[in-house]
Parts: sequence; C-alpha cells; structure tokens
Amino acid sequence: MINMSDTKYIFVTGGVTSSLGKGIIAASLAKLLQARGYRTTIQKLDPYINVDPGTLNPYEHGECYVTDDGAETDLDLGHYERFLNVRTSQANNVTTGRIYQSVIEKERRGEFLGKTVQVVPHITNEIKERIQILGKSGDYDIVITEIGGTVGDIESLPYIESVRQLLWELGEHNGIVVHLTLVPFLSAAGELKTKPTQHSVKTLMESGIKADILVCRTEHHISEDIKEKLALFCNVRKEAVIQSIDASTIYDVPLLMQEEGLDTVTLEKLALPNTTEPNLDQWKEFLQRHKNPKDKVVIGLIGKYVELPDSYKSIQEAFIHAGATNEVEVEVKSIHSEHLSAKNIEKKLQGLDGILVAPGFGERGIEGKVNAVTYARENNIPFLGICLGMQMAVIEFARTVLGLSQANSTEMNKDTPDPVISLMEEQKNVTDKGGTMRLGSWDCHLKEGSLVHGVYGTSDIEERHRHRYEFNNKYKDKLEEAGLVASGLNPKTGLVEVVEIPSHPWFVGVQYHPEYKSTVANPHPLFVGFVKAVLDHKQKQNNASLA
Ligand code: GLN
Repeated sequence: MINMSDTKYIFVTGGVTSSLGKGIIAASLAKLLQARGYRTTIQKLDPYINVDPGTLNPYEHGECYVTDDGAETDLDLGHYERFLNVRTSQANNVTTGRIYQSVIEKERRGEFLGKTVQVVPHITNEIKERIQILGKSGDYDIVITEIGGTVGDIESLPYIESVRQLLWELGEHNGIVVHLTLVPFLSAAGELKTKPTQHSVKTLMESGIKADILVCRTEHHISEDIKEKLALFCNVRKEAVIQSIDASTIYDVPLLMQEEGLDTVTLEKLALPNTTEPNLDQWKEFLQRHKNPKDKVVIGLIGKYVELPDSYKSIQEAFIHAGATNEVEVEVKSIHSEHLSAKNIEKKLQGLDGILVAPGFGERGIEGKVNAVTYARENNIPFLGICLGMQMAVIEFARTVLGLSQANSTEMNKDTPDPVISLMEEQKNVTDKGGTMRLGSWDCHLKEGSLVHGVYGTSDIEERHRHRYEFNNKYKDKLEEAGLVASGLNPKTGLVEVVEIPSHPWFVGVQYHPEYKSTVANPHPLFVGFVKAVLDHKQKQNNASLA
C-alpha cells in the first residue's frame, strides 16, 4: 500500500457530444491506478432531477444498477465494480435531485435560518461535500468523479462550478481535470478535425476550468501533428493529449490507455510517484481467454427492452466474464418477449443452446416469457430466470404442471385466483414508487445437495435484489411435490430466493440479480455454471446428431 496523506481528486468531464464513454475511461484510469497500488474509487454525478434512476424506464437511461447498500444507480457504477472489483455504494452516485432534496430538507430543518438559499453557495457546497465524502472516509487514495452530461449544458453548470471551487480549495497537484472529447473524421475532407475539441475546451475555460489532460475519442489514429495542434490550442502539454481509439471490447481500454500514458501523465499531474508498473496480469489473462475461445454458444436473452442493449448491461457483461472462464464465446441473442407466442416459439427459439428470461416490470411481454420458459423446460434446454424471469418460471410451472391455468403474479393480474407471486404484507401499504422495493444485499441459504449449492460451492450467499413481488409460500409445498424445488431461502424471512427443477439438466430461477456482482476478477458462479451447462448441452446435442 502506498502511504498518502491526502486524497487526490480526478474530475472527468465530457465535451462535444454525449455517449463518448466517460464511464469506461474513468474506470480504465481507475484500473491503472489501482494496479499500481493506489486505493481508487469512482463516483458519478448525474445532472438530472430524479432523486435516483430507479424510477426511469430502461429505454431512458439503460439498466438501473443496484449496489449492496440498496442504492438504485447509474449503469456506469456497474462498470466501476466490474473493472475495479471494489464495491460501490450510495455515495458513488449523486443526482441533482438528491442534492436539491438534501438542501431543501436542511432548509426546512432551519439549518440556513435567516439566509436566502441559493445555487451558489448552497447547492455547490452540497455538491462539494458529496464529492469529498468518499475521500474523507479514509478508504481511498484517489477519488475519480465523473460529471455526467456535456460541458455547456445548463443543467451541468452547478457541478462545473463546484469542481472549479474545489480545484482551487484543494490546491495544485491535489485535483486535476481529465476532459473527454470527440475528434471526428470528416470523410469528405479526409481529415480528423480538432475544432470541436478546441471549442469544448474553451467552454470549460469560460467556467474557469483548465483541462489538465485531454482524452480524444476517435475512429482513426491521431497523428503526432494533430496531437501537437490540440496541445497548442487547448493549452495542455503534448503528453497530456491521449488518443482513445475505438476498441473491439471495453476491456481493452485500460491497456490502450496505458499504452498512451494516461496513467503516467495523471501521476505526474498529481505529483504522485511513478515507481511501480501497473500489475495487470490477471486482467491480461482474462482478455487472453476472452479473445481466444475454444467454442461458441448462443444464449437467448428474452426481454422486453431488447431494442436498447444497455437495458441488460450487467447481464451482457456477466456473460463475457463467464464466457472467458469457460473459454467459450457467448453470443447473446436478444429476443423480444412481446413477439413470442405458443405458435411461433419453436421457430423463434430453435437453435439456442441456452435461455435466459430477463428481469422486468409490468404486463407487456409477459406471456412471451412464460412461453419461453415452457420451451426451455420441456426441451431440456439450460435455463436461467432472473427476478421477473424467476417469477415467470414459477407461474409457468404452476400453470402447466400443477394445472392452475390462471396462476399469475398480482403485479400482472390483481384478481388472479392463484397468486403464486404476490406482494409481501409490508409492501401492501407502500404508495411511493421511488426507493421502496426490496433493494440491495440480502442473505440467502442454499439447500445442501441442490444444483445451486454445487454451483456456488457454499451454503450461505449474499445477493442483490430489486423487486416488489415475491414467491407466495402458500404454494411452496404443492410446487415442490410437483418438482419445482425452493433451493434457496432467506434465512430470516423464509422468502424463496431460488427455485430449480432437479429433473431438468439445468433449470434455475433466482429472485435476485446475480449479474450485478459479476466482475472481471470474480466472474459470477451462477453465470459460470450456466454457461458451462449451456456448453455441455450444445456438445451433447452435437454428439447426438453425429451418432
Ligand atoms: N416486476 C417484478 C417485481 O417487482 C420483478 C422485478 C425485476 O425483474 N427486477 O417483483
């Protein structure tokens, strides 16, 4: 461990356009610093007014990522955890809504008594406080704070002003700004263009902030000449102009950033010693396995937000981790549950080596998910149901095997005669939608001898939840007698967290979200086990067709 007296702060801002991948750059820089022994964490400040993204439709903002402490957060936090293998928390994601909520609560309590409460200094003070919470915890040497949005946006202004003040307060070498921009290629001119970056740096300057490092997203190599030009016009040193070229996988980005010297220039700007090389052995081994698969499997992801791949970001990434462990390429084929009927299911799902029914909310696309479960169950195809996917597996089993043809979740049909999935008592009087689900990490005890017990290799696990409805224990005995076993239970409440079908080669439904905890360093056992089962299934099918 490196001995440091003060926490250093790195602010990552973005210009020119959104979707440049600030989260991946922040996570990659953090990885490089962590690999040199610095205790590093990342925080995301989002400029929207929702208190958290929990109430946003995935189409708006992609997946909602959940932390151990039950915060519903931006999907970038998922990247942070996957890259760093360090848990994040409520403090790692702050929105404008939360800032205002907290300032207004303080005002009501009389904490500013006699004063007019204003954006500057009250909102900016609150932002500065939130930025420094992680640093002051003593747990980190370096805190990277990613400012959501693009410089120049009206809604980002208080954040930019807070960064300006904080840089001044922290003093030289204790805080720096990494500015991410786009260097577009104009095919008509056959050239890379630096002007948008110049303008974006100028916008930042107008707010009193000088970029220390420029990370330039590009589809083509940036020549030394262009780097020099960018350096001269953007007021940075040439070594601080970092090319970030399109990569075939996000997991290449830390290595590309290392090649470009992003970590060395960062250390220099922060006046930190650059004595050790980053140790990225494990990372490189993962990449090696990821890029050299020995086989390939196709897994159907049955969901209703499939038009936007970011809706299932953590699931997609967990498959990459599990694929690398199994040395197999996992092709995730997104299938819209709304388009699946009993009639076309065979045609739509044939050829899949495994089936995953995804999480989700509301009635749309539900029957398609039930049909997909039937198909997987009856054809012995490895199946993983996550959250709503697990609930659909229970509904399908109750309907088809127990003959309770109208079995349903009370989320979809309040008046179902067989509510196999229903609301817990404590949820019945909940009226607020934000932050009121069963959220965050919960204990689960796995039944000895069950499939999941073997997969995890342990009896007691903790997994993250995000749902309101639950397996209805009134149906547990009947379902178990018929062959759907509750193999994971909450030790305190007795709530069913895992179901499986022992007579099926690999059929598991989990009420929690294993995908949130899968990282490069620790691929999730359930995904690793599922991909292995899918591969075995494929190989058996191939052998059978050859025989
Ligand atoms: N809609 C279901 C519930 O609230 C499942 C949620 C989910 O899949 N995350 O219980």
